[in-house]
Amino acid sequence: MQKRSFTRRDFLAVAAGAAATLASVPQVVKALPSAATELGKVKITDIKTAQIQARYAFNLVKIETDSGLYGIGEAFARVGIIEHIHAIKERLIAQDPLLVETHWSRMMESSTTIGSQAGSLTSAIAGIESAMWDLAGKILNVPIYVLLGAKYRDKVMVYFDTGAPRTADPSPWVDEAMRVKSLGYKSMKFDLDWEGRGAGLAGRPYKYRRDMWNRSITSLEMHQWLHILEAIRKAVGDDIDLSVDLHWEYNTRDALRFAQMAEPIHLLFLEDPTPPGNPDAMARITAATKTPIATGENLYTRDQFRPYIEKQACDIIQPDTQKTGGLLETKRIGDLADLYYLPMCIHTYGSPVGALGSGHVATASRSFLQLESDNIDIPWWTHVVQWEGPLYQDGYLTLPDAPGLGVELNEEVCRAHLVPGTTFFE
Ligand SMILES: [Mg+2]
Repeated sequence: MQKRSFTRRDFLAVAAGAAATLASVPQVVKALPSAATELGKVKITDIKTAQIQARYAFNLVKIETDSGLYGIGEAFARVGIIEHIHAIKERLIAQDPLLVETHWSRMMESSTTIGSQAGSLTSAIAGIESAMWDLAGKILNVPIYVLLGAKYRDKVMVYFDTGAPRTADPSPWVDEAMRVKSLGYKSMKFDLDWEGRGAGLAGRPYKYRRDMWNRSITSLEMHQWLHILEAIRKAVGDDIDLSVDLHWEYNTRDALRFAQMAEPIHLLFLEDPTPPGNPDAMARITAATKTPIATGENLYTRDQFRPYIEKQACDIIQPDTQKTGGLLETKRIGDLADLYYLPMCIHTYGSPVGALGSGHVATASRSFLQLESDNIDIPWWTHVVQWEGPLYQDGYLTLPDAPGLGVELNEEVCRAHLVPGTTFFE
């Protein structure tokens, strides 16, 4: 693209022109006034998908254009999402990819009725939206975080989501913690409720739990969990952040009781102690314990986060960029939480494409605290993208400064791990 100096007068003139024809000044122009000269030049020609098989099927999205430039994004890794993407794409053919938030609103509001904007639909839209930001960055020759409007930090702190040894014996849990610490991570999360409802649904027999459905935690389980945490804390020291995920399983009283028992451990957070449907129930726990409460991976868009934030029902919000609606929506959720001085962690367990997209949100969001990592133990996982040097180092995610997402897919690795019977963006 031709470069020239862009004056404040130019910006005001173009912004006024854009405002006359659009609902508002595009985010790309707000963040980068020179983007106004590029509006309308590139058109979307196709949107394609590819599925990479790891623990789950990563749903990757590619937006192609008449300029030859393309964008890569990632939707959440669950069923039905690919179908949504292909249903939505017809609305975007021949459109200007720089009008990201306008397309986002159109996708959200023309795909379903207001009030049912959640689940696989917003996850699909998140994949398209994030690919659009990669593409916009490439068109405008800037990293995504520039287009999101801020750069608060140079590197993105990561917490390591550990494996669960599924035993009441603290020793294997301590071994896992020390392994993660030796990898350089300064924050780690544990799935202590290995006899949760997920185990029951998978058909694993309960040893300590009495019932699969009544949301209770037995006193024995609570003491087992506490002893495991005490052993981990003693082994890793006080300068390592420890968190626990309860997977939205438990009744308010039992969850509160365990949160209070865990107070001497000084957790970074206790995640999802109660189901996501009732912020008042979670607010009762949050108000009654010194253990910080986190939630968000099952909430979609600002609409569902708003009561949790306004009621201060949690201490930390944790949206999933690939579920909740995309990069800009996640930043908006983080900015809303910042009005109540609530920090934002970002939940993710997709491919490096999704992790890097979340990394740009993390860089651009004042309230960001830590980014989840998952799948790092899969040897080829980081090689899904081309990047010289370690993507993760000393507990931080490296955020490239190249245009867009900052990386390209490694086609050879992707093709070697395609979901059987699927194609690579064909
Ligand atoms: Mg979780």
